[in-house]
Amino acid sequence: MKMLIGKNWVDKDEKIEVLNPYNNDLIDTVPSGDNDDVKAALRAAEEGFKINRNLPVHQRISILYKTAEIIRGRQEDFARTIATEGSKTIKEARKEASRCIDTITISAEEARRVVGETIPFDSREGSENRVGYYFRFPIGIIAAITPFNDPLNLVAHKVGPAIAGGNSVVLKPATVTPLSALKLGEAFIEAGLPWNILNIVTGRASKIADALVTDSRVRMISFTGGTEAGQDIVKKAGLKKIGMELGSNSPVIVMDDADLQQAVELSVSGAFWAVGQNCIGVQRIYIHETVYDEFEKMFVEQTKKIKVGYQLDEDTDMGPMITEEEAARVEKWIREACESGAELLTGGNRKGTHFEPTVFRNMPESANLNCEEVFGPVVNLYKTSSLDEAIKLANSVKYGLHAAIFTRSLENAFKAIKELDVGGVMVNDSTDYRIDMMPFGGVKWSGLGREGIKFALLEMTEPKVVCFNL
Ligand code: NAP
Repeated sequence: MKMLIGKNWVDKDEKIEVLNPYNNDLIDTVPSGDNDDVKAALRAAEEGFKINRNLPVHQRISILYKTAEIIRGRQEDFARTIATEGSKTIKEARKEASRCIDTITISAEEARRVVGETIPFDSREGSENRVGYYFRFPIGIIAAITPFNDPLNLVAHKVGPAIAGGNSVVLKPATVTPLSALKLGEAFIEAGLPWNILNIVTGRASKIADALVTDSRVRMISFTGGTEAGQDIVKKAGLKKIGMELGSNSPVIVMDDADLQQAVELSVSGAFWAVGQNCIGVQRIYIHETVYDEFEKMFVEQTKKIKVGYQLDEDTDMGPMITEEEAARVEKWIREACESGAELLTGGNRKGTHFEPTVFRNMPESANLNCEEVFGPVVNLYKTSSLDEAIKLANSVKYGLHAAIFTRSLENAFKAIKELDVGGVMVNDSTDYRIDMMPFGGVKWSGLGREGIKFALLEMTEPKVVCFNL
């Protein structure tokens, strides 16, 4: 496929190969963009901003609805693209494609709700003759940088609200999964989005990210990815708005009064969805000592039922990891954890990008598998004696995206809701529960700001005050 700059689908001699992570088969190539391409995209986005901010809201709405319809018509093709370039199974990829339709549809709905307020200027003595209001205006060029693990819907979470709010975009998708993003770009253009508003530069971050991140024409960087890259961006960005959706190692608390069957089923799914390559995937489960043994037995049994295989086979539950380097990193962390005393309950082996679903108990606090984000199919079980202890351990890491608690007690639930340092608490559900209209984001090292269309729109627009001195 080609990249989208200004009014052109641009090719280059130098290519990046897009490979199926299951077998390294070549799926397609994309151009290897460079700094000149970023500059050209930014010039186009300057034009695009002028066009979009002057586009009546009803036109933005109809373009967004039409884009959603185009994706709906090609839902299976989108799902197959997600599953072939990424590591989701076809069942998981279908869910992502359907959620992308939601994301773009909600962007259309929210476009008409970007509103302001009147301001009671006469609330201050001496301002009796003033009247006015504020409204929200688009901030300009948004640089969107996206990860591999939801290669379609996380792109939609940036592009949908950016367009709804009247901005223009320069998008840099993950190098390993650029095709879903380019197909989304095609859908927007077919839906009538004027050229220049959306620009997509494919290329490695090491080559093009700095040119994008440091350019003063970019008024907001909307980044989703790992903490390391996030830190790098923050250091280099200079004076511009920053939205950061980063990683986590999400905790689940299972109390003695929980429905264990429900807790096991939802937590196993939450741990191994997308091979654990999920920012809100379950990584640490704190189980009350009175139900620990039963929970562990049920959890391991359920984990062993997961069918690992080719992600496009209908009966596969868990596909390959995204690259062999990533799988080797997880393998190394597993080896280190075993050497430091963690007990492996099931799994632990890998062949190439294929990993067994892996469950540990007695994970030392200092192990990477406890305190870092594993972003792979590994989950730890811990025995705890009270809710206070579980909350303390849940909060003991640098991340804070989602957390969950399984309990039948409202008192337990509300204590956890109040005391867990995270951006979202799921009660009797997995940490990886999400719908696209809810505010989504983390605290501590898990991020800055919120996505979820209405909330992204607030970040991507700014209030302008108008005051009449009568
Ligand atoms: P990543 O390595 O951080 O890459 C994400 C994106 O950033 C890619 O487009 C990448 O480009 C680019 N990038 C890498 N280094 C950069 C730098 N120094 N400056 C600017 N851009 C840079 O993350 P990933 O492996 O694709 O995705 C996994 C991470 O994303 C996990 O930590 C996960 O938790 C997080 N994530 C968070 C959320 C959320 O909503 N909170 C959702 C999904 C994923 P290249 O591909 O060219 O390297």
